[in-house]
Amino acid sequence: MPVTVIVGAQWGDEGKGKVVDLLGDEAQVVVRYQGGNNAGHTIENERGRFALHLVPSGICNPDTTAIIGNGVVIDPSALRAEIDELESRGVSTANLKISGNAHLIMPYHILLDKVREMSLGNKKIGTTRRGIGPAYADKAARVGIRMQDLLDEKIFHQKVQAAMRSKSDILRLVYDQNVAGLEVECDRYLQMAETLRPYIADTSLLLWQAVAAGRSVLFEGAQGTMLDIDHGTYPFVTSSNPVAGFACVGSGIGPTAIDEVWGICKAYCTRVGEGPFPTELLDDTGRRLRDVGHEYGTTTGRERRCGWLDLVALRYAVRVNGMTGLCITKLDVLNDLDEIEVCTGYVSGGQSYDEMPPHQSDFHHAQPLYQSLPGWKADISGVRRWEDLPAEARGYLDFVAESAGCPVVLVSVGPRREETVRVR
Ligand code: GDP
Repeated sequence: MPVTVIVGAQWGDEGKGKVVDLLGDEAQVVVRYQGGNNAGHTIENERGRFALHLVPSGICNPDTTAIIGNGVVIDPSALRAEIDELESRGVSTANLKISGNAHLIMPYHILLDKVREMSLGNKKIGTTRRGIGPAYADKAARVGIRMQDLLDEKIFHQKVQAAMRSKSDILRLVYDQNVAGLEVECDRYLQMAETLRPYIADTSLLLWQAVAAGRSVLFEGAQGTMLDIDHGTYPFVTSSNPVAGFACVGSGIGPTAIDEVWGICKAYCTRVGEGPFPTELLDDTGRRLRDVGHEYGTTTGRERRCGWLDLVALRYAVRVNGMTGLCITKLDVLNDLDEIEVCTGYVSGGQSYDEMPPHQSDFHHAQPLYQSLPGWKADISGVRRWEDLPAEARGYLDFVAESAGCPVVLVSVGPRREETVRVR
């Protein structure tokens, strides 16, 4: 297995965790390159069910090195809790390595995230309120605090105090918050330093050595293409870049090292939070997709908005990520349907589109054009080979691949590892 990036092809929650866990068996290194503990990967294996928010999915494999790259923002207490949970259930974290250049989510970032969202009222972005956006904002403003700062008490205090001054003013004067306890909370972070110290490493160098030695490396994207801060539905996006290109930036490796980009895509669509979603179904079919697919957030428990597969958005995701393969997940959720609709184009402002409308207003008003395909009306969760899938299911997958301009390399027919059809 070469160097592969796994990227969400939709609005996140595509089932990336399962695919990464599965491929992680073959990978010697698994890397997270962006996002924070707003990601939620659920994986199931012989040890049980794990909801991972920061730690790469490959952690369950004792022979895999799990790297949290510089592009990730880290809440140390959330990371500590996740490590403790894994260890307590018999999963060793000895192979976890964290970039010293990864930025920290500080207590004031979390507070700012909450009060900003509240003050936006019905214009809110729908963030998870975990401080991720404000942490990335401070990184860009060059007042961020990095993982390596935890290792030097003096530097840490200097940096926190400098950052606190302006943050306290904003929180007090703009948002009318009591900031008395914030400094104490920041000090609490230092106590975490001792326990996280063994995990901090030069992860860029580690990765370079792994690639040079011909090891298999898997980059695990969080969220999805349509939530990318540059290429998604701005401003209803995450505050980082889930697209495959950022795997290089967020880990410290060059683009020429990457061999494959696999996009994970559900057989239908979901979206959490606010923002445009042309194929959203507010009717019984939408509720049925939510119930059968258990479409509730791993991290927040929030109800996901559900709809038909959007092939315009998928074609776009194939393009901006340079995808070489598609992994279609949750095909089994469509088992009972007589007819399955797929969106092949939009109409907006009297104009029709078969590519993403470049202007956001046109996308906000996009009305989907559907094509109806026959359902298979059979339980496919036991199928393991492409040729054993019902003809209608193969027809559906072929249609998706053809429209998206990318071959299907893997089909997931259930949450468990073995409930998978490998095409390649
Ligand atoms: P991620 O963030 O992209 O990993 O997505 P989630 O953690 O939200 O995972 C999607 C959920 O669907 C998890 O509960 C998985 O166990 C489950 N899941 C993954 N693949 C399949 C599948 O093919 N069929 C079904 N029914 N469930 C799946």
